[in-house]
Amino acid sequence: MCSPSRMTKPQKPLGELALIEQIRQDSAGQRSRFVRLGIGDDCAILQPPAGSEVLVTTDFSLEGRHFRRDWHSPESVGHRCLARGLSDLAAMGATPMAAFLSLALPKSVAKGWTTRFFAGLRVLAERYRVPLAGGDTAQAPGEFILADIVLVGAAPAGRALRRSGARVGDLLYVTGALGGSATELERMRSGKSRRVKSGSWERHPHMFPEPRVAVGEFLMKSGIASACLDLSDGLSTDLAHLCEESGVSAEVEEGLLPIHPLAREVGAGLATQAALHGGEDYELLFTARPGMSVPRRILGVAVTRIGRVVRKGEMVLVREDGSRVVLEARGWEHFWS
Ligand SMILES: [Mg+2]
Repeated sequence: MCSPSRMTKPQKPLGELALIEQIRQDSAGQRSRFVRLGIGDDCAILQPPAGSEVLVTTDFSLEGRHFRRDWHSPESVGHRCLARGLSDLAAMGATPMAAFLSLALPKSVAKGWTTRFFAGLRVLAERYRVPLAGGDTAQAPGEFILADIVLVGAAPAGRALRRSGARVGDLLYVTGALGGSATELERMRSGKSRRVKSGSWERHPHMFPEPRVAVGEFLMKSGIASACLDLSDGLSTDLAHLCEESGVSAEVEEGLLPIHPLAREVGAGLATQAALHGGEDYELLFTARPGMSVPRRILGVAVTRIGRVVRKGEMVLVREDGSRVVLEARGWEHFWS
């Protein structure tokens, strides 16, 4: 009960060591070629491949803001927590090296919740061979769960994909399908969906999104993408980010948008809105020079051309009847009636 490390860290809440021990056991089977020293010392030691740069991203998962305990299973919260960070690495073509998690739990949260949270996180961590190499836990002062994840990745020096590389004339592509996450969230809000403990991106795009890690690495290594980012806030908002960083604008063809099967069920109008503005699809949006040969599938993931890069100005949506309207950045906006 009274281990030396507990005596040296009296400020830590009871139960934390058990939690850290659990994380340590979880990560023991996931030795990574990049982690020289994981949990157990004051710091982790990472060894990036020779000639590479280190990429770091951090993401909050806050109860009430990013998830609700009555909508999201603990497994889904764990999965989504890691998926958000992995998606940021994918956006830049980085190879994940390690994850670090800080978790603040209210006293009222049962141990079972935490165990299941880590189980959800672990499934995704094993799929992408990214070990949890450290972290911290504390008792939350309030009644809400707070998780902050840090992902560290590597990419060959100078080769990481950026938002700023798009040029006028480039074509615009997206991976996978759009609008599924917003649709599933709306189904949950309106009581048409129930909490799920596990699932795939195809059936539960909001609860279990699939970060496009391998596709991002492929885009970086192949030199196909001139600019890239991941779709976290919604196509319209994230496209505006890419345009801003590249000093360009874009035209999106409504009829080309790949709509997630779940979104198709709500009718074409709402599905298009969900695809354009829904957010949290965690697909990759990238541009490629017009002469570039872009495969229709990359490592099993569909790649769809949805528009093109034009001179700086307002973004345009070309409707299926050929009419042109301004495409406003409205990611995260509430468009359901
Ligand atoms: Mg991002």
